[in-house]
Amino acid sequence: MSIVYIVSAPSGSGKSTLVNELFKMVRHLDFSISYTTRPPRGSEQNGKEYFFVSRDEFESMIAAGEFLEHATVFGNYYGTAWRFLREAENRSNDLLLDIDVQGASKIKEKIRGAVSIFILPPDREKLEWRLRTRGLDSEEVIRRRLDTARREIENYSKYDYILVNNVLEQSADELRDIVLAERLEKKSGVELSEEEKRLVETAQACRLDQSRERVQPILASFNLQAVKGT
Ligand code: ADP
Ligand code: 5GP
Repeated sequence: MSIVYIVSAPSGSGKSTLVNELFKMVRHLDFSISYTTRPPRGSEQNGKEYFFVSRDEFESMIAAGEFLEHATVFGNYYGTAWRFLREAENRSNDLLLDIDVQGASKIKEKIRGAVSIFILPPDREKLEWRLRTRGLDSEEVIRRRLDTARREIENYSKYDYILVNNVLEQSADELRDIVLAERLEKKSGVELSEEEKRLVETAQACRLDQSRERVQPILASFNLQAVKGT
């Protein structure tokens, strides 16, 4: 059985950057390329970041039951196709989904044992700065993304792991360690090497219940409060 990893983050937190780094470091991991009706941005290519389709095509796929989940984000359809999970399983690979908060909850309901990771920016100011320096969005879209970020961040406590993307290299290593630690957990009973013990510790430190102190100032920068019990 493949492990399904779900990665969500407010837009601009550095999720695509981290996921790219992860794929350079971890083998036997497939990326689920979502379908979307939004137009390509910057250097995005059809079949690489997304499959870019028309609303009609997307709606036909919904009718044909081709989606594991789909949602409307910023006025466009986005959906995860079943076929990526089937293909990963056939190759004995794990599968990573880059989806929003709504999609993550739907996948968690459908796939038992799916591992969810929420990426947070260090604070609101840095998120705004990253959105601006990325240079892909208009001022109006940046405003909308910042408002949405606040609402998305409110859902952080639904995730298994919290990753604060401060120093890129360190965050990428943490993401790798979470992925590898989950694989090790599946092989329970096997004696761990020193390196494996170290990565399991790094992953544990990112677990939701270990993240309270790190999350607190980030929430405060978005005028949010921590959820009780985390
Ligand atoms: P997302 O996929 O979450 O929307 P991106 O990966 O496009 O975000 O990152 C947004 C911008 O922030 C990009 O310009 C990227 O180079 C930059 N960035 C990503 N991670 C970091 C980091 N740890 N420190 C500084 N800048 C970062
Ligand atoms: P963007 O347009 O910036 O690439 O993505 C906007 C949002 O849509 C992001 O939060 C991204 O994670 C989410 N998204 C991308 N693909 C899917 C998908 O297949 N399903 C869902 N539910 N959300 C997706």
